[in-house]
Order: sequence, then structure tokens, then C-alpha cells
Amino acid sequence: MTSLRAAPVTPVIPRSEALFADAQALLPGGVNSPVRAFRGVGGTPRFIARGNGAYMEDVDGHVYLDLVFSWGPLILGHAAPRVVQAITDAAQRGTSYGAPCELEVELARRVVATFPALEMVRFVNSGTEATMSALRLARAATGRSLIVKFDGCYHGHADALLAAAGSGVATLGLPDSPGVSPAVVADTLVVGYNDVEAVEQLFAARGDQIAAVIVEPVAGNMGVVPPVPGFLEALRALTTKHGALLIFDEVMTGWRAHAQGAQVRYGIAPDLTCLGKVIGGGLPAAAYGGRAEYMKQVAPAGKMYQAGTLAGNPLAMAAGIATLDELATPGLWARAERWAAEATRVLAASAAARGIPLTINRVGTMFTAFFTGDPVTDYVTAKRADRDRYARFFHQMLAEGVYLAPSAFEAAFTSVLHDEAALLLWRRAVDASLDRLGEG
Ligand SMILES: *Cc1c(COP(=O)(O)O)cnc(C)c1O
Repeated sequence: MTSLRAAPVTPVIPRSEALFADAQALLPGGVNSPVRAFRGVGGTPRFIARGNGAYMEDVDGHVYLDLVFSWGPLILGHAAPRVVQAITDAAQRGTSYGAPCELEVELARRVVATFPALEMVRFVNSGTEATMSALRLARAATGRSLIVKFDGCYHGHADALLAAAGSGVATLGLPDSPGVSPAVVADTLVVGYNDVEAVEQLFAARGDQIAAVIVEPVAGNMGVVPPVPGFLEALRALTTKHGALLIFDEVMTGWRAHAQGAQVRYGIAPDLTCLGKVIGGGLPAAAYGGRAEYMKQVAPAGKMYQAGTLAGNPLAMAAGIATLDELATPGLWARAERWAAEATRVLAASAAARGIPLTINRVGTMFTAFFTGDPVTDYVTAKRADRDRYARFFHQMLAEGVYLAPSAFEAAFTSVLHDEAALLLWRRAVDASLDRLGEG
């Protein structure tokens, strides 16, 4: 395949429009995951024909520099040769066995070696399954019911965790979701992100009933919001003191907030960790894991039931192994982080030069630019960002050949293939888009 190069494009997208019209009759909202439908920014979603490296091409032939990367997984870029080869090789040996295979052991070995707090791991198919299972395990291990989560953190779409969820739900302006019965979320307590005092009060009042605290150690689903100093430390201390488990949902932050995970970046060992996205290298794989004393309670080693027909399937395992092995190349991950640092510097300078208030939060290879002059430290402050402004910025950037998340409350993700040429394109796109933002 020839490599793709992005260039300014005309917003003429007849093929995407035709496909979207068909799709809306067949798929709810025309998509299989809400944020893809562009409702947060308006307009017609681009149907993608192919991806190559840092770029992807839509069905109308427009090429974009990608900063979504399937919402995080593709840190090596689209169609990374090593990953494609690994998947091809695996597929030729069969796509699923319903029996153990060596690749599961190999990926587990790498995951356990990556995270000091992980001694054992169970593979599942999605981040949603990982968090849902980790909660079940925490409840099984403690014999308690209550779960503490944070406003604006998203942990997948399991019923118990669809209380004050961020990103897709927030963007659509739905407080929760119909279909989640009140009883199912009655045991879910929601507090503000970075609000240590609120967590302390909760534990003081109900500490002996709390099974677990689940947190995105760097929030990514209300846009990127880093933990304030002391926040994760306080969660660790409080859960330990009260006999509750600390669950880090690193589905997004794993191999993103840091070459390993947020738990390594901040030096906090959770009891359980949820992984997804990068771990599957673009195929459906996710995992939960932790200390052996807990993981040995999962069936069939223990009594907590959890299973999966396609869990640990050889294609996903092969893609994950290839991704992690490639990412272990010295200096490679740092490229993705360096580009993110450069890109945010360019963006901040361009906005400042035009007097446009912008708050940029970046951790590792993920960042969000909030159109607000105030610091963004939790969901309340994130929501102060100007969504209309973001929507206009998004469409300008798209027209300049840069594909950002179609929502003001999402992260941008970089890859190891973002290079000088990509930075040049980014700089031009940012300057042109912010210029026109001022006019509008
Ligand atoms: C994406 C995400 C999930 C859900 O993962 P799916 O694979 O989409 O089910 C859970 N937690 C976090 C932090 C995520 O970013």
C-alpha cells in the first residue's frame, strides 16, 4: 500500500453522506459506538476506507493526520507491519480454539512484567468487561457491596458504572442512561475527581461497606485531567485503612500516560488493574489483573465466575504481543510523547498569540485542549469549556487534514509515527483553524 499524506480537503463527502444515510436505517444513529456519529460537533461522520501509519483516508479520498487512533489502541499507527504480520500468521493457524494457546501465556508474561502490581491477569474482550469483572472480584474478595467512582470517569458501559459517566454520555447531555435500574446503581457512590475530602468523608461514614474505589488514574474520558498531587496517594491510603480494594482503570492510560502505566508514572500500586485499548494492538482484547491473592479467587481457580468464548483469542493475543514488543524498542515510546509535547506547545502558542483562552492538559501521549481560560481539574471545570468553539475548531482542523476527536471531552492520542512532517501539518492546521475561529 502506498503511504498516505494529508492535505487540506474540501468538505465534499458524497460517499460518506450516502453511507451514513444507509447506516442510519440499519444501525442506531448509523454507528456502533455513539461518539463516532459526530453528534458532539455536528455534521456527517467520515467513513474510513483505510489507515496507514499516522494517517487515514476516508471513502471520498480525503487523507487525515489521525489523532484518535481508534480511541487510543493504535500507538504504533495504522497497519503497523509487525502487527499485521503477527495477525496474518496467527489467522493462518486458525482464528479461535476455545482451548488454551501459547499466545495467551506469552501476552500474560509481558503484561505481568510491565506492571509491578500485577501478578496474574485474565484476558477479556473489552474494557467494559474488564471493569465489570474487576468490580465483581472486589465485591467477592471483600464481601461488601459499595463501589466508589468519580464524576466524569468512564469505565465502560456496564450498568453499575453508568452513573454520572463522562465522554459519550456527557456529550449527548444525558445524565445517565435509561435502562439502568436504580437498584443497580444504588451501590455506586459518585464523588468529584481530585476531591480527596469527599472521599475521606465517604470512608468516614461508610468505610466498612465499601468494596472498592475505581478510578482512571489520569482521567481521559472527560478530556485529559491529571490527578492532583496527593489524590492517588489518598485513595491508596484510605482503601488500605478501610479494607477496600483500589482499582486503577488503565484501559486508556496503560502504555499511554507513561511507557508502562499511570501506576508506574505516579508510583502507586493498586490492588486490581483494568487494561484495554493498546493491549490488543487494535484487536478486541482487554484484561484485568492484580495481586495473586485476589486473582486466585477467579474461576476456575476460585469461586468468582467470569468467562468468555473468544477471550484470549489468538489473533488478539498476537496483535497485543507484537504491539508491546515493538513498543519496547528503546526510545520508541518517547517519540510519541515528544510529539504530543511539541504539538501542545504549538497549539498553546498559537492560541496565546490570538488571545484565545485555551487550557491544555497533557500526560504522556494523551492530551486535551479545553476552550476555557480556567484550569480543568475535574468534570465540573471540564464542562466550562466552550463546546461550540470546539466544534468549529474540530471542523476547521478536519478541513485542514487533521482528524481530532469529534467531542470536546475526549483525549487526542499520538503515535510513534508522528514525525516532523506531521508536526508541520499540525502547525499549519492549528494556525489556520484558530485564525478562522477568531473570525467566526
Ligand atoms: C475505553 C475505556 C473503557 C471501555 O473500554 P471498551 O473496550 O470500549 O469497552 C473503560 N475504561 C476506560 C478508562 C476507557 O477509556
